[in-house]
Amino acid sequence: MQPHLRSIEPYDPNFTATRINLSANENTHPLPASVREAVDEVLAATPLNRYPDPMSDALRDEIAAVNDVSRAQVCVGNGGDELLYNFLLAFGGRNRSVLICPPCFSEYAFFAQLTETNVRTAGRDPRTLTLDEEALLACARTCDLVIVTSPNNPTGDLADLGLIERACHACHGLVMVDEAYIEFAGEDASALPLLAHLDNLVILRTLSKAYGAAGTRCGYVMAATDIIDALSAVRQIYSVNVLTQAAALALVRKRGALEPLTASIVTERARLQRALEELPGITVWPSSANFLLVRMAGATAIRNRLRDEYSILVRDFSAAAGLEDCLRITVGTPEENDAVIAALTELLP
Ligand SMILES: *Cc1c(COP(=O)(O)O)cnc(C)c1O
Repeated sequence: MQPHLRSIEPYDPNFTATRINLSANENTHPLPASVREAVDEVLAATPLNRYPDPMSDALRDEIAAVNDVSRAQVCVGNGGDELLYNFLLAFGGRNRSVLICPPCFSEYAFFAQLTETNVRTAGRDPRTLTLDEEALLACARTCDLVIVTSPNNPTGDLADLGLIERACHACHGLVMVDEAYIEFAGEDASALPLLAHLDNLVILRTLSKAYGAAGTRCGYVMAATDIIDALSAVRQIYSVNVLTQAAALALVRKRGALEPLTASIVTERARLQRALEELPGITVWPSSANFLLVRMAGATAIRNRLRDEYSILVRDFSAAAGLEDCLRITVGTPEENDAVIAALTELLP
């Protein structure tokens, strides 16, 4: 194995089949029947014998129209993860650096390692877990790439658009805003409007969260055409298969029918937060995404008891720097959230 890859272990999500899985920030609601039918119809009509359209042009056209950009400003990938990897493959590498703000999505550091990109970090406030804006901007001046996650996983906070604009001016390279959870954050939260006048801004989105389609593996990037051209040049040409392209196109066309689901998750987020805050000895951070980060004494033991005694799976972040005794709970259906509240009410003395 190449020396820089030798320390990597195979990914083991430590997955246990449970009655209620609130560990991966998926949309746990079934798709509305009208949406599922539209998807099933296009899947049934998709021939499997031909290679996919390498550039997913029909899907790009739809994404471009929805977001008021041009097709040439859109690149589709096999999940946001593939696009993150391609971003570092195209623009990172030896002698280049990427700035991240941990605790954040662990894939950034992983893809940086695969591509031999140097990782630099700007901290967060240890109590609020919000971005240290001055540290980020200072570091952005000397980094080739910046990734800001908004809302951030696992802390749930939103990045200020003024900060993103200043980061784009500070950095001589590219600033990616990872908007995997943006649909849960409200109308004006997205950095997309900044794209019109910032030619080094890159916006990442996915169908894995609000769209309820994590299994289809589909994400997209929006950026200036020269950035899209570079991402298109390094991509695996057939990585977005025919079934994914067909299903994603149907889902984006039917996005209006998914909006009530997103709204209900946002309402449930507030209800779950209030209920959890009632529990003794718990800290709940505010969240603009479809999950809540919480801290409680003995979090790992609580997580294991939720799994073993209640068949509820949540994600343990206790081992992450700055997140001692923290768990991340995906906001589920009202019934699932009730089950978490009831279980934690019993488990927290
Ligand atoms: C889920 C997630 C993604 C993308 O996930 P895919 O399923 O690969 O599309 C990207 N960034 C963050 C922060 C995420 O949580």
